[in-house]
Amino acid sequence: MNVVVVGGGVAGLGSALVLARQGHDVTVVERDDTPMPTSADEAFEWDRRGAPQVRHSHAFLARLVGLLRNEHPDVYAALLAEGATEMRFGDDLPPTITNFERQPDDDELVMLACRRTTFEWVLRRCALAEGRVTFRVGEGVDGVLTADHQLLPGVPHLAGVRLADGNTIEADLVVVAAGRRSALSEWLEAAGTAPVTEEVDDTGIVYFSRFYRLREGQQVPPRSGPIGGDLGYLKYGVFVGDNDSFSVTLATPTADDELRKMLADPVVFDECARQLAATAPWLDGRAEPITPDVHVMAGLLNRFREYMPGGTPVATGFLPVGDAVLCTNPLYGRGCSVAFWGAHLMAKAVAANPGDVVAMMTNYDTDLRAEVVPWYRSGVEQDAEARRVSAALLAGEDPDGDTSDPRTFMRSVFRDGLMPAMRTDAVVLRAFFRGLNLLVSPDSLVKDPDVQARVFAAWQERDSRPPEEPLGPKHRAELLALLPV
Ligand SMILES: Cc1cc2nc3c(=O)[nH]c(=O)nc-3n(C[C@H](O)[C@H](O)[C@H](O)COP(=O)(O)OP(=O)(O)OC[C@H]3O[C@@H](n4cnc5c(N)ncnc54)[C@H](O)[C@@H]3O)c2cc1C
Repeated sequence: MNVVVVGGGVAGLGSALVLARQGHDVTVVERDDTPMPTSADEAFEWDRRGAPQVRHSHAFLARLVGLLRNEHPDVYAALLAEGATEMRFGDDLPPTITNFERQPDDDELVMLACRRTTFEWVLRRCALAEGRVTFRVGEGVDGVLTADHQLLPGVPHLAGVRLADGNTIEADLVVVAAGRRSALSEWLEAAGTAPVTEEVDDTGIVYFSRFYRLREGQQVPPRSGPIGGDLGYLKYGVFVGDNDSFSVTLATPTADDELRKMLADPVVFDECARQLAATAPWLDGRAEPITPDVHVMAGLLNRFREYMPGGTPVATGFLPVGDAVLCTNPLYGRGCSVAFWGAHLMAKAVAANPGDVVAMMTNYDTDLRAEVVPWYRSGVEQDAEARRVSAALLAGEDPDGDTSDPRTFMRSVFRDGLMPAMRTDAVVLRAFFRGLNLLVSPDSLVKDPDVQARVFAAWQERDSRPPEEPLGPKHRAELLALLPV
């Protein structure tokens, strides 16, 4: 088949790679004018205004690593050769965990430490090496072409795309990987489809990231506790990258205008990171910033666009992949894994239904709903709870004030049971990490009786345990007082 892929981010590149490896001819149209760099550091300078999140911390989860290792070992080897490193469960546990014994399935619990731009650069290089992939960068798609015939009565069938300069690309299949701000719904409606409905839910956070590099001869700090934390009024984490780089991300509630404005200043940002347990050791002089500014991203939405309502496509001849169909809160670090996973589900549906585009669409939609959508729903639920807590804190109220609210009890189990158990018990930490890395279903942690028993045992000891080391200033006002004005 001739396939046109709209967008050259992780979903588009993953789609191009897998489809080319299945023997299809692929044209990727990417609006950002991004000539092929020759090094990871050159890729870091790419002008990626179409995907501004590349300037933010990115985690690459075990679900993605598994696909690379099992299905594209050459791509995985190329990433490691360009400076990405593996983070294996068990290798770097905090000293408070004393019962770790390696299990056979720990081998799949591997994350990749890599900058997002390095990941994209290597993926693009490998896709191009297939020979069947053509890249058209600096060209934007601004509509779809419809065929004279229809595969389903009354449902437009797509025959390619129209570029912003008026040229067209005809194709047997259009893969839309145009990211969270994809205009696919508008293009479809302009082509005569029914309006596309979507679920939208504000994540309630604003993201701040800055990148650093270890100075010559310096090492990463020894692991003494968690690599991130949630103070209710501020979430934060440190992300290891490739080639001695790392980044720090802070996230404030959208409503906290004061902190939002302050953290955009690199001096305030660094000082804030020095006040937080997990990030402080990284900013003790062992590293220097490689981004002069703090990158800020707001308007972060969970969004699920419904292109197959009731199982019937709004149009035929297209498959939406990655953020273009479903995007989630960046804090969970799932987007690239879901995008790459989605590209594989899409390509699997293409391979399983040769010549039958409607069956491809149905097959892909079924798999996406079964495997990926549950992660979207669990993220939306988690965000609603986080918004409730941060709103209470910002209003000076106690989020646990209403003891009759079942959420108060669940929060207590999370804070006084799960969190302490994860600090001391490798069994609980492993179960949590398997979920975090998309290796099991979202509800597997709460359904595991052994884990449940361990968490409740920790919860019952909540009053007899010595207080935990604070993750940072307990109250927002304390943090603000420590920051330069
Ligand atoms: C602040 C932030 C932090 C994140 N952190 C993480 C993380 O830690 N781990 C993780 O896995 N995910 C993370 N994500 C999510 C992740 O970045 C996305 O899920 C991922 O980029 C989705 O890939 P994609 O290919 O679908 O979209 P994108 O990467 O956004 O790519 C879409 C591409 O399409 C192009 N395009 C758009 N319209 C057109 C057009 N009309 N014509 C041609 N080209 C077009 C754009 O230029 C862009 O290159 C984060 C997201 C944000 C916002």
